[in-house]
Amino acid sequence: MAFDILLSPPDVGELEQEYVLRAMKSGWVAPAGPDLTAFEEEVAERVRVRHAVGLASGTAALHLALVSWGVGPGDVVPVSTFTFAATVNAIRYVGAEPYFVDCDEETGNMNPALLEQAVAELRKAGRSVPAIVPVDMLGKCVDYDAIGEIAQAAGARLLCDAAESFGATYRGRAAGSFGDASVVSFNGNKIMTTSGGGMLLTNDEALAAHARKLSTQAREPVPHYEHTEIGYNYRLSNILAALGRAQLVRLDEMIKRRREWRERYRGLLSGQTGVRILGVAGDAEDNCWLTAIVVDPEQSSWTSAQLSEAMNSAGIETRPVWKPMHLQPVSAGLAGTLDGSSERIFERGLTLPAGSVLTEEQFARVEDVFRRVTAS
Ligand SMILES: *Cc1c(COP(=O)(O)O)cnc(C)c1O
Repeated sequence: MAFDILLSPPDVGELEQEYVLRAMKSGWVAPAGPDLTAFEEEVAERVRVRHAVGLASGTAALHLALVSWGVGPGDVVPVSTFTFAATVNAIRYVGAEPYFVDCDEETGNMNPALLEQAVAELRKAGRSVPAIVPVDMLGKCVDYDAIGEIAQAAGARLLCDAAESFGATYRGRAAGSFGDASVVSFNGNKIMTTSGGGMLLTNDEALAAHARKLSTQAREPVPHYEHTEIGYNYRLSNILAALGRAQLVRLDEMIKRRREWRERYRGLLSGQTGVRILGVAGDAEDNCWLTAIVVDPEQSSWTSAQLSEAMNSAGIETRPVWKPMHLQPVSAGLAGTLDGSSERIFERGLTLPAGSVLTEEQFARVEDVFRRVTAS
């Protein structure tokens, strides 16, 4: 079905055109160049980390951190089950075993108590746990204090999947600055985009240098092509970095807009029983990337499926929240510490349009459909 109101379309305009055109006119069309270096520096400065490595995707950034740390076959990596497949795919690329950890039902973020239990059980079974990968769900940071402590006690590195939370903060500190390394995504549907791209962020100079080398086919610093390890073609292009620089200038304005829609949804939902916005409590530091509602079928007179159907037939895109990774056919045979929270959110959740390009007129249409469904 073709929708004319989209969930989270890219928000690009004149500034982006200007930056991309300038990069093209500069002649730096080939992979690396001054816009890439500047974009890395600007992101590192905003997030307050020492190193940023611009890559072709967030997935590539997750992959390179795990490769660089030597995570591989025989290792187990506890990871949020409530996430997009990319998080878990990266663990499988290196041949390690993902171990699914369920979420806090309020926020959808990894439940620290379940992580603690998972790590204790894995260690008791004699398993090697070199890394833990939590995910900042829909732009809300995980409880980094609690999860950081558990990782430290376990001697595991913390790889933070901040693909969805760029621009958010946790206790005043920027998403992307936590753990041993963090990953952000600039995919087309994210809070800001390079059309496709991502970054690995870290204070660890050796990791940044190694990831950078691995991202350009692991070429040794000699005149001829010399390779001592297997590399990848993962570098972000200079033209796309220019687009990212323009988006970064507009990031706060785009977050502000998404937050306004969050507030409007909050208003719409007041008076509805059994309906809440995922992770809405204490969302002042979130980037409000997406707004998802959770509808309890036992308390509400309507269901998320009914709302979704009505929105879709009115040309409005909606989407279920992430299907937990432990329920995916591709995860058959993999274990986890699960308590049903992510499954309940999946069954009841629905993501609604809240992009920064959404107009008043479009939101009025969303409101109309919402009122029609919820009044009947
Ligand atoms: C988007 C996303 C990714 C992957 O980022 P890409 O840049 O698309 O590779 C990873 N993890 C999560 C949670 C995401 O939402």
